[in-house]
Amino acid sequence: MILGIDIGGTTSKLGLVEDGKVIAHARISTSGHTDDHAFADALADAAIALRQAQGDKAFKAVGIGAPNANQLTGIIEMAPNLPWKHDVPLARMMADRLNVPAVLGNDANAAALGEWRYGAGQGFDDLLVVTLGTGVGSGFIVNGRLVLGSAGNAGELGHDPIPRGRLCTCGRQGCLEAYVSIRGMRKTYAELAGVGEKDGILSQEGVLPIAEAARAGDTAALRTFHDTVDLLAIGLANAVCATGPRRIVLFGGIARNGELLMAPLRDRFQEVLLNIYRGRVDLTVSALPDDDAALLGAAALTTL
Ligand SMILES: [Zn+2]
Repeated sequence: MILGIDIGGTTSKLGLVEDGKVIAHARISTSGHTDDHAFADALADAAIALRQAQGDKAFKAVGIGAPNANQLTGIIEMAPNLPWKHDVPLARMMADRLNVPAVLGNDANAAALGEWRYGAGQGFDDLLVVTLGTGVGSGFIVNGRLVLGSAGNAGELGHDPIPRGRLCTCGRQGCLEAYVSIRGMRKTYAELAGVGEKDGILSQEGVLPIAEAARAGDTAALRTFHDTVDLLAIGLANAVCATGPRRIVLFGGIARNGELLMAPLRDRFQEVLLNIYRGRVDLTVSALPDDDAALLGAAALTTL
């Protein structure tokens, strides 16, 4: 049994993983802990409570997925969406508290591992997994290995520069994520519809209101999807040139919009793809529940 932890900006989730399944879940607040040591204490308490609820069966390791995590050092480095603006050596902090080995990895890389081992990526040793949520993350499996790169967090497809000017959370202008994310799509819709970013249908959270408006024929909503599909297709086609995946798995809130997104995306992707790859790269949506993919992937970090 392995403990998987998924660190998010608002909430952090814990799961006990056995035989490729999450058998028990817990969650704690991330944003409520401005002190990283208090946060690590709360995580350890939640882990121990989970273990006790399973008859005190020991877990042999802890795998943690987090934004801006360097898998080579076990440190979360200045994550813009987490409460701590300094480096947090969370792998060591959890290993000390729980007395088991701990591995920390980038959250998108953890999701990629989860898809590769347990989801739509099974059997594909050249795989790209892209998470389309509040931000855009990605993880690359190449020749049967998760790519970590020199900084231990390779695969930042969301921060691919594109020739547009919108400000990104990383502080630069014109990243893919500034357009192809929940936040980005909402901004695009607001611009096209000429409304405030919380007005009209945008008073509801997420991208569902835009998807519903698009299905009802709303022009600004349809153009938002069209623009998003175009930029995402180009981003994916660029990534294919770099590592030649056989399959791409999309994951997260935006990917759940079904054929509204996927049908035009498949067409546009084939159009912009280098000819030698055309018809040779599957584009599919994750079938794993979002929470479980992240936890299974975090747990799988310990088996690399
Ligand atoms: Zn950026």
